[in-house]
Amino acid sequence: MTERALAPTAKIGIVGGGQLGRMLALAAARLGLSCHIYSPGEGEPAYEVAAKSTIAPYDDQAALARFAASVDVITYEFENIPAATAEFLQKLKPVRPSPRVLALTQDRLVEKDFVAKLGIGVAPYAQVDDAGALARAVARIGRPSILKTRRFGYDGKGQTTIKEGADLAVAFRSLGGQPSILEGFVPFAMEVSVVAARGLDGEFLAWDVGENVHDNHILDTTTVPARMSPDLLRRATEKAQKIAEALDYVGVLAVEMFLVNGPQGQTLLVNEIAPRVHNSGHWTLDGSVTSQFEQHIRAVCGFPLGSPRAHGPVVMRNLIGDDIKEWRDLLRQPGACLHLYGKTEARPGRKMGHVTFLKV
Ligand code: AMP
Repeated sequence: MTERALAPTAKIGIVGGGQLGRMLALAAARLGLSCHIYSPGEGEPAYEVAAKSTIAPYDDQAALARFAASVDVITYEFENIPAATAEFLQKLKPVRPSPRVLALTQDRLVEKDFVAKLGIGVAPYAQVDDAGALARAVARIGRPSILKTRRFGYDGKGQTTIKEGADLAVAFRSLGGQPSILEGFVPFAMEVSVVAARGLDGEFLAWDVGENVHDNHILDTTTVPARMSPDLLRRATEKAQKIAEALDYVGVLAVEMFLVNGPQGQTLLVNEIAPRVHNSGHWTLDGSVTSQFEQHIRAVCGFPLGSPRAHGPVVMRNLIGDDIKEWRDLLRQPGACLHLYGKTEARPGRKMGHVTFLKV
């Protein structure tokens, strides 16, 4: 499809209806744009804030075609949509970021190969297609190591740690015997992420690097700026830029990294690329001139990008499951900016909202 900048009043199609879609639709509305959400799930958080929603399966071509006909550009808030869905949509309207990016980041092995070929450090890894390959991989990489399915993993799902004495055949079966990769366990000093945007014209802008703490594989807090040296902050951002440029990326992306203290000093290893707005960038809603959600909308519409400058140091905390019960106390705290996603059922591990603490 031809690449042209849209105007305010344009219509944006968003595939996926979760909280990321909700916050994208809210940001779009502020710029006079309206959103049409496409998702297979009932009662998703994005529906109630979007102009239009289609609830249909990802392989319903008639519904996808009607969705595409009703919008000017299509983006997504969820990276596990089938590649065939993205390719079908791309024949009808521009899809940004491109389905090629989606395919690459959906497969951990393809993604690791891509990052390593750019000369960017990653954890040692090996392809594992069967229990025999796992035994060979463990012999090379050692223990502890982490077996991860190549596809459909998130928030620690589809992963198992291979410790001393672990039975490899059992470990492989525990992930359903799926094509996987084995990764060396990285004794990281810190986890960080670079959330950044690349415009249709190639302009690249990154927010301050975030320092992330996970609890039970789910992001718990992001502290900005990350407490590392100016040189490391710059190197982290340069890696994200190299990745965005190699992908000819359009939109917001997040690159998660491990900071490792080694004999040759501190190094950064890339763990994962998220081809979308990211939980570790939620602080930008209250803590920076342009939020990641507005920036993504600007980028996919071909608008000029906004400043990612932070107003000051911030901490973002996720509200997971029953944490949402604290909502009233959080509303009373000066400098606490509360965001709830409108989910009625607080299941354990479910992201119900987040709160950004500003220095006031
Ligand atoms: P992932 O799904 O790959 O983002 O992994 C989720 C979390 O598991 C990461 O944020 C880390 O805390 C941890 N993790 C993943 N891979 C490794 C690794 N190779 N070494 C150490 N910790 C890891």
